[in-house]
Amino acid sequence: MKTTIKSDKIEFDADDLNLISLAREYSDEDKAIALFESMRWPNGKAICPHCKHDECYKLNSKPSTTGRNKIRKGVYCCAACRKTFTAKVGTVMESSHISVSTWMMALFLICSSKKSISAHQLHRMLKITYKSAWFLAHRIRFAFGDDDVKLKGTVEVDETFVGGKGEMKTSFLRKTPVMVLLERGGKAKTRVISSVSQKNLGAVLAECVDKTAVVNTDEAPAYKAPLKNYAGHNAVNHSKNQYHEVKADGTVSTTNSAESFFSLLKRGVYGAWHHVSREHLPKYSNEFAFRWSNNKITDGARMAVAIPLFDGKRLMYRQPAA
Ligand SMILES: [Zn+2]
Repeated sequence: MKTTIKSDKIEFDADDLNLISLAREYSDEDKAIALFESMRWPNGKAICPHCKHDECYKLNSKPSTTGRNKIRKGVYCCAACRKTFTAKVGTVMESSHISVSTWMMALFLICSSKKSISAHQLHRMLKITYKSAWFLAHRIRFAFGDDDVKLKGTVEVDETFVGGKGEMKTSFLRKTPVMVLLERGGKAKTRVISSVSQKNLGAVLAECVDKTAVVNTDEAPAYKAPLKNYAGHNAVNHSKNQYHEVKADGTVSTTNSAESFFSLLKRGVYGAWHHVSREHLPKYSNEFAFRWSNNKITDGARMAVAIPLFDGKRLMYRQPAA
């Protein structure tokens, strides 16, 4: 697939982006900013984050001689509201002191690592502090949160339990239930729930799945009532070793893809992150859902899909009190 990214400054095929090309061509901060801007504003025009006006002009960066009037790289001025901004403003990257070239490298690593990557590894590979790496990765995961478009067609739904520490590792009470909803051949959504109850499962289904969908689940009775009003509900009976059923009309009823999703997620939890708190689990599962939803494209194209998701999202290190 050709994923051409074009602007007045840069034109390239996102499919050609890999670790080598990123390191060789975009380690320079100016080029990394041009790369980020071209993916952030794919139409080639900078959009003012303050008033959404699309006529903005770039200010020439200049070092400060007197301690004042310094203009940083990549600063634009809006022709309408006269406010200045960079491409980072209004995204998860806003107020970050980490260079854009480091951000691009981190994003590529997260987009391309099927079983995710730990903050420790990012810290070692990118030469940033562990704290910076941890927060940067969380900001990227936060941006991966899905949209409110409901899933259609055949949707596999399943839940698993993640986490727990020490002796509590085996206790369901300390584990956190995560639901996954997979549109066959389409997107994945995940939701962390407080408990596997009919009410919680029903609320997530109502939020994420269109009523026209045929939903495949396991035999858990809690799914029955919430799925009554959907186009179809196929329950695969895992307790009878039934994992795959071909219906008379040729359709296949299974939750095997959901099981595969969870096995990947658990490899991330046990292999890369080691411990995941309930508080951050939604962001970790977002990350896996994002890669799953975009698994048919190259790592570079996945990065080009990720950057527009940064828009309109902010994650503070300490969320201000409400
Ligand atoms: Zn403006």
